[in-house]
Amino acid sequence: MSCLLVLIDHAEGTPRKVSLQMLTAARRLAAETGDSVAAAWFGEDADDAMEALGAGGVETLYWWDDPDADAYVTLPKVEALEAVLDTADVSAILFASSNHTKDVAARLAIRRDGGVITDVTDLAVEDGTIVATKEVFGGATITQSKVADGKLALFGVSPNAFPVEEGDGGEPEVVDLDVELSESATAARVTDVEKEASADRPDIGEAAIVVAGGRGLGSEDGFELMEELADVLGAGVGASRAATDAGWYPHRYQIGQTGRTISPMLYIGSGISGAIQHRAGMQTSQNIVAINKDAEAPIFQIADFGIVGDLYDVVPALVEELRARTD
Ligand SMILES: Cc1cc2nc3c(=O)[nH]c(=O)nc-3n(C[C@H](O)[C@H](O)[C@H](O)COP(=O)(O)OP(=O)(O)OC[C@H]3O[C@@H](n4cnc5c(N)ncnc54)[C@H](O)[C@@H]3O)c2cc1C
Repeated sequence: MSCLLVLIDHAEGTPRKVSLQMLTAARRLAAETGDSVAAAWFGEDADDAMEALGAGGVETLYWWDDPDADAYVTLPKVEALEAVLDTADVSAILFASSNHTKDVAARLAIRRDGGVITDVTDLAVEDGTIVATKEVFGGATITQSKVADGKLALFGVSPNAFPVEEGDGGEPEVVDLDVELSESATAARVTDVEKEASADRPDIGEAAIVVAGGRGLGSEDGFELMEELADVLGAGVGASRAATDAGWYPHRYQIGQTGRTISPMLYIGSGISGAIQHRAGMQTSQNIVAINKDAEAPIFQIADFGIVGDLYDVVPALVEELRARTD
């Protein structure tokens, strides 16, 4: 039987939320295509994740249980995926649409005559073929596309595009992968990994709640207020490009066309006007709250809840109220 393969993105033995969301997508698709659901885990620490993977509907886990999986950059994962393709009948691969895995998918597609569709926000089956939905031109247009017949289909799934839903599966059957790395795959070794200073906050791509600040904060000190609000909510902190260009917050937290694309359950933007390039990165958020002193700011056109006021009055009051409710 052919399978839909989910490439599990994980950290310290725990599948990231996007991986569990991809399993939901794979289960829904498999119910229509008749495929089974399989997963690939590259790295040593899958033991603790078996229950979560089984609950996610994984019937077969292709496991490359080797420290080399994380010791080098992109190519080992490409070659490990090739080992899965040599072992299993894979009809499509779902991967998290991050910069790193997009690189992996692109290289695999070149080697195995595949087609890659990235930043997918929905997947459905039409006439037996998987059709991917994604936004293009900064979110101005939504497209449906599919990979040409006969090619290996690879879909990069955006975080929070699907919910985490548990299936009723037992523990997956584990297939150990034997991966012979080529010389070129081991040419560049990872020598050190440095955790980001704010690693104790959720990554904005995965966070259920994102608090974002813009030029309206007035200075980098305003981000202390954003972090205060974020910490009460357990949220990640993002920024508009005006704020990152001003050096008030690191560029890696920029949301938008030339930054990160996020789709949290709740986005709270403060002092952000809502330029189209910013909206391109956050307009699929499930609930949008905008705080802006200008009632005409374009962000209010897409906001579910708008607060017209000075953010330095509104946000501290919000923090106080939230603290009172959570204490
Ligand atoms: C090719 C290209 C790519 C781009 N990519 C991105 C991108 O990825 N992400 C991105 O964000 N932008 C991007 N931009 C920039 C974008 O066009 C806007 O310039 C930027 O988003 C504006 O950021 P902002 O909303 O923080 O600032 P502004 O547009 O200056 O808005 C500031 C807002 O704060 C409000 N305000 C001021 N003081 C207060 C206060 N005390 N309380 C409440 N509200 C207040 C104002 O009313 C205003 O609406 C891109 C532009 C180009 C040309």
